[in-house]
Amino acid sequence: VAHADDDTSQPGENAKGLVFNIQRFSIHDGPGIRTTVFMKGCPLSCLWCSNPESQAAYPEILTLDRKCIQCGKCIEACPRGAITLGDSKRRIDRDRCDRCLICAEICSTGAIEIAGTWKDVNEVLTEIQKDEPFYRRSGGGVTLSGGEPLLQWKFVSELLKECKKKGFHTALDTSGCAPWDVIEKVLEYLDLVLYDIKLIDPAKHMAATGLTNEIILSNAAQIAGRKRTWLRYAVIPGYNDLESTAKEIAAFASRLPIEKVSLLPFHAFGAQKYERLARNYPLTSVSPPTDEHLQRLAAIFDSFGLDVTVGY
Ligand code: SF4
Ligand code: SF4
Repeated sequence: VAHADDDTSQPGENAKGLVFNIQRFSIHDGPGIRTTVFMKGCPLSCLWCSNPESQAAYPEILTLDRKCIQCGKCIEACPRGAITLGDSKRRIDRDRCDRCLICAEICSTGAIEIAGTWKDVNEVLTEIQKDEPFYRRSGGGVTLSGGEPLLQWKFVSELLKECKKKGFHTALDTSGCAPWDVIEKVLEYLDLVLYDIKLIDPAKHMAATGLTNEIILSNAAQIAGRKRTWLRYAVIPGYNDLESTAKEIAAFASRLPIEKVSLLPFHAFGAQKYERLARNYPLTSVSPPTDEHLQRLAAIFDSFGLDVTVGY
């Protein structure tokens, strides 16, 4: 787990955060209509991650071959000689690439794009403010998601502070994988926490995400005691969908003042993004859980007295 000093945002008077998407009119990331700011970089590497471009804490290139018209401009521009044209296809040797991003800047068709842009608080705030009327009418607000936003806690707390000054409802979608002193700094500017719980068993958590979960579980308990907390449980067949696993999570949640639990069924929508990053998709053989199974898991949470929904 990152130390508080490991904040990955860019320091300075106009601190910058690495953002990979700002999604307007989101209805899945807290109450009402929201603007969700996706921060890039995550200490976990969940095998089922549907936003693989959110994991690395640096800007990188995303390719989309069907948009390539083979004009060759990126080949000429690449200072590392990492791009070639062969078999009527433009290829990028990622081992040679040093992520200078020049090819993405020169490509006019969108066949190479940049995932991750450094933005200062005011730039993000300008985007957020566009939807202010919708927040007021719908009871919505702003959600910071990722990646793991707490990895850029200095930027995130500055942004949240400004959102609170403007009276916006604020939420954080987090894995909870951060030191407590970092969480405390961000918590004071939050109205709601959307907390992801993947597994209770530390060894299984390590195998599926790359890290154990002791700090995640202890942070969940501390956060729920201080802020409104909604729990999110992404149900991944073969990894955490056994009824015994759901029972462990439900038992854990039932000991905390959790407002509600959402069961989020696995989907493979992120598979194409792995291809665009030249990475292998690890869950090719996994199918979404059936409705019947999701209802069985939901019944377990219900039996623990928890307010549970399938979906958001
Ligand atoms: S600049 Fe874009 S369209 Fe042209 S060859 Fe490169 S990737 Fe393809
Ligand atoms: S990002 Fe990589 S492939 Fe693109 S121009 Fe730079 S070194 Fe070449």
